[in-house]
Amino acid sequence: MIIAIDGPAASGKSTVARALAQRLNLTFLDTGAMYRAVTLRVLLAGVDSDDGEACTRIAEAMDISFDENGYVLLDGKPGEPEVRGSEVTAAVSTVAAHAGVRAAIVPKQQSIAAAGGAVAEGRDTTTVVFPEADHKFFLIASPLERGRRRAQERGEPERAGEYAAEIERRDELDRTREHSPLRQASDASLVDTDGCTPEQVCERLLAHILGGA
Ligand code: C5P
Repeated sequence: MIIAIDGPAASGKSTVARALAQRLNLTFLDTGAMYRAVTLRVLLAGVDSDDGEACTRIAEAMDISFDENGYVLLDGKPGEPEVRGSEVTAAVSTVAAHAGVRAAIVPKQQSIAAAGGAVAEGRDTTTVVFPEADHKFFLIASPLERGRRRAQERGEPERAGEYAAEIERRDELDRTREHSPLRQASDASLVDTDGCTPEQVCERLLAHILGGA
């Protein structure tokens, strides 16, 4: 079974997808972590993130996999927490916008899921990577709520406004890019997560999946 969870930054995709994967005994596939892994390599190599050809070469050459807990590995070595750093976060949407980078990464995502099913989360999982997924969801939450969640996650609750601004900037880049822009697939169920805990969202999706709705 493949379940795809799409939506903008900090809409709760990761937390919910991870919990759902555990409940359904499926692989959790964090597609954003793969673009973050490429971006980390790009930055470490001193490559300009606007240079599509150089970014593509890096994406094609590196081995990206996941450990048993769903955390990304770069050539077999842990990518956390570096892949979550602010420099990677600032550059990832630029790197992920290159067609060549996506062409290198998408087949890797498809082969991971093909191995036994997955709960895949990320901005084009319902539209491009797994258009035939068994269940598709598009999670949303207001920018302020998303800023609050991200700030809480990073242990900086007082910076919710700054996080909300950064999230909105990234959404805009993801929405307006030429290749695989962020958008809701027509057959994805819209789930508004404002005011819901991750557990509540997970239960809603589970009811949908198990109820066959
Ligand atoms: O989900 P996360 O915030 O870790 O994703 C980081 C960035 O990777 C996104 O802002 C987006 O630019 C890119 N991304 C993507 N396609 C995906 C997942 C993430 O382009 N499927």
